[in-house]
Amino acid sequence: MKSKYIFVIGGVMSGVGKGIATSSLGLILKTKGYKVNLVKADPYLNVDAGTMNPTEHGEVFVMKEGLETDQDMGNYERFLNQDISQANYMTSGMVYKAVIDRERALGYGGKCVEAIPHVRDEIINRFQKATKENGSDITIVEIGGTIGDFQNAMFMEAAKTMKLQSPKDVIVVVVSYLPTPGAIGEMKSKPTQNAVRELNCYGLHPDFIIARSEVALDAKRKEKISISCNVPIENVISAPDIKSIYDVPVNFEKDKIGELVLKSLSLKNKKPDAQSVKLWSDWKNFVKNIHSNKIKNLRIAMIGKYFDTGDFTLTDSYLSVIEALKFAATKAKAGIEIEWVDSKTIEKNHGILKDIFKRCNGLIVPGGFGTTGVDGILKSIEFVRKNKIPYLGICYGMQLAVIEYAQNVLGLKDAHTTEINKNCEHKIIDIMESQKENLVKLTMGGSMRLGSFRCKLLKGSIVSGLYKADIVTERHRHRYEVNNSYVFDLEKKGLLFSGKSIDGKLMEMIELGKSIHPFFVATQSHPEFLSRPTSSHPLFDGLVRAMMR
Ligand code: GLN
Repeated sequence: MKSKYIFVIGGVMSGVGKGIATSSLGLILKTKGYKVNLVKADPYLNVDAGTMNPTEHGEVFVMKEGLETDQDMGNYERFLNQDISQANYMTSGMVYKAVIDRERALGYGGKCVEAIPHVRDEIINRFQKATKENGSDITIVEIGGTIGDFQNAMFMEAAKTMKLQSPKDVIVVVVSYLPTPGAIGEMKSKPTQNAVRELNCYGLHPDFIIARSEVALDAKRKEKISISCNVPIENVISAPDIKSIYDVPVNFEKDKIGELVLKSLSLKNKKPDAQSVKLWSDWKNFVKNIHSNKIKNLRIAMIGKYFDTGDFTLTDSYLSVIEALKFAATKAKAGIEIEWVDSKTIEKNHGILKDIFKRCNGLIVPGGFGTTGVDGILKSIEFVRKNKIPYLGICYGMQLAVIEYAQNVLGLKDAHTTEINKNCEHKIIDIMESQKENLVKLTMGGSMRLGSFRCKLLKGSIVSGLYKADIVTERHRHRYEVNNSYVFDLEKKGLLFSGKSIDGKLMEMIELGKSIHPFFVATQSHPEFLSRPTSSHPLFDGLVRAMMR
């Protein structure tokens, strides 16, 4: 079978859920028995998302091979319930860098190097490489930004060229928006018409229009869009606002988008195998559980530092952690609310911890970098440790838990991480040997310990019980590690290092025994990246179960 491509392009405005539409379409086609791959082409010039500020750009999602990407890749993996390759992510920066590096290495044989064809062809090659590496039947490419942006024009060019070369194997889906202005009280299709006209300027025309709107499209609106945008009426898909992003695939299927897309790609609507059938029924079950009555409502405190710009960005900065909490709670039939705690407020007044944990059943400290708010986090960890409140520490959350233990249980008052205090007496957390040079030379982008690493779990430990495994693989993103010269003393005082790298050299997980604390677990990795709607993560499951007791 020839590889098929679907380009998903946004019309009218950004932020209407193009990524979720892409992910949902991916899931639907996968449940139809096809191998699907999702690719993101981002217009910005950063070479990866690793150096971007989470409050501005949302969380950095780490791929299994270690590439630092943006949150869309997280949604792709969560919806498809599969790991995808880092070849599926590209920015204009990556593309241009590759072209310029090749030019500097005489790779163009002295030719004049230009956006078209050279940049465009680099993009096409990357799309094709992503398809090949993932062995996919259908590759869905989401082009970042909206139609008419100057920045994504090269990606449009690439789509146009691929369509020209293979018209039957390439389709275009426009995710548009139909506003209902309050004063008019009617859903307006004009912005969508204009977006399609602008798309035509690139030599592209939509095969499908996914029409985002407050409420579902009526027949009249569908007909209007169909006629004015020249798209078959059945290919106008209604996508009204809904409660949860995970409802979207189920909602799309009401308009039979899967079958229609297969038809327009000249693919058979084959009888799905048992695996595909299960995928779809698991998904529907999960969605049903999201909306069903809960046996208990939980509240968890999440303490972090990427807070400064209000609720919206805050949730974006920790997106995968939030989703992981929701998946575990949904599985346990519990409702979960997150209370955002700004560590600076704790630094000002330790007393508020008592009030916070009157309301909250647990604490989570997610990954982080640098000094701000660290003292408040240490105080919070001390509070939940002493008061036997369930705790899950992620990456920085593990490092700080080890420091807190060293300071308050071992009595090493000047114990710290050299990330914050280079000259502290007890360097409990220290820069990894392999990272020293990066720090001196300031080679910061893409240079941390990144991607999937294996970890050996201690037999009989809490974590091995949760994972039901001896060896697990988790994704990482850090520069510092536990200093091994303190491990013996910490263990003697009860802090168990229950997960270690395969060679035993890196400390990967810690815990307190069940007789000391109901749930005090932390990991150097980012388990949130591997938590999926229909298969929530064991560590999050463990935390939620402890919070329910
Ligand atoms: N700042 C710490 C380190 O670099 C932790 C990183 C993280 O939490 N992702 O090791």
